[in-house]
Amino acid sequence: MSTMTAAVLQRHGDLDAIALQQVPIPQPGRGEVRLRVRACALNWLDVGIRQGPKFGAVPLPLIGGGDICGVVDALGDEMSGWQVGDEVVVYPLLTCGECEYCRRGEPTICPHHRIIGEHVNGGLAEYTVVPARNLLGKPSRLTFVEAAALPVVAMTAWHMLITVGQLRAGERVLILGAGGGVASMGIQIARLAGAQVFATTSSPEKAARAAALGAQQVFNYREQDWVQGVLEATGGRGVDLVQDNVGGATWAQSLRALARGGRLVPCGSHSGTTFTLDITQVYHRQLRILGSNGGTYQDLAAALKLAEEGRLLPVVDTVLPLSEIHQGHRLLEAGQHFGKIVIEIP
Ligand SMILES: [Zn+2]
Repeated sequence: MSTMTAAVLQRHGDLDAIALQQVPIPQPGRGEVRLRVRACALNWLDVGIRQGPKFGAVPLPLIGGGDICGVVDALGDEMSGWQVGDEVVVYPLLTCGECEYCRRGEPTICPHHRIIGEHVNGGLAEYTVVPARNLLGKPSRLTFVEAAALPVVAMTAWHMLITVGQLRAGERVLILGAGGGVASMGIQIARLAGAQVFATTSSPEKAARAAALGAQQVFNYREQDWVQGVLEATGGRGVDLVQDNVGGATWAQSLRALARGGRLVPCGSHSGTTFTLDITQVYHRQLRILGSNGGTYQDLAAALKLAEEGRLLPVVDTVLPLSEIHQGHRLLEAGQHFGKIVIEIP
């Protein structure tokens, strides 16, 4: 057997830009391993890449999918530490390791960084090839589907709250858009860090699930002024940190919801990329805007450790076979999900 089934993005466009095809099984090169993919979660990035090259050029045709969990299937030359049969998850960033940012331990700013499933083929296929240095052990208590639900959202939320946001015990945090994967991780990570957690969401059902993950109070943004809600819940003070991956539609409110000296940590802009800012509120109240993008291998390792201990729970909304990749994109775009949409490849 020399071919495999893969979901191949042929061009930018609608759902029919993705085709299920038979393609050659990839061979691992130097320092690489081949994985038999068992599960691959979808992300907004997959939808964004399909719709158009708004994050820069991607090579087409492309096998997407950066949230990979699988079993080591073949070893390339000059790699060590892993064996055929090991169950692993994949750190999805490829960084140069040599630039000033990589050398000072901030690979997420590496100007040469690439993403598995965006710039090179990813895990929406029966097999994929990745660098061995990108592997981490799968938390043994999790299924393949559960583990695939973690890498991108867990490392992103960890990087936002802990690495960039420097969240401390006792602080108050607002997580926007509970229901999305990054928010469902953010609520849990903030609570585990000892913070008091507030969240916004769009329905009573999502509010109940956000509360179950650890949000003390959840505001339905369709029904109420959530900035007012946050200010009332904090005695007029506001929160110390807002995790905002919504973007242009929420930045103004996020800044208003901050306490004096508070931090807005943005990562993502699917609601838009611009808004009007009253600069005075930033310097009068000494607000800080701390951009965050992706996460480091260490961020992911820290999150997986908590998952191994049963303290950080994967949040899976829907599991689909590879043949229903189009339905996966449809569900993501509809935005009714809570947690991850995961493609399982048994
Ligand atoms: Zn670099």
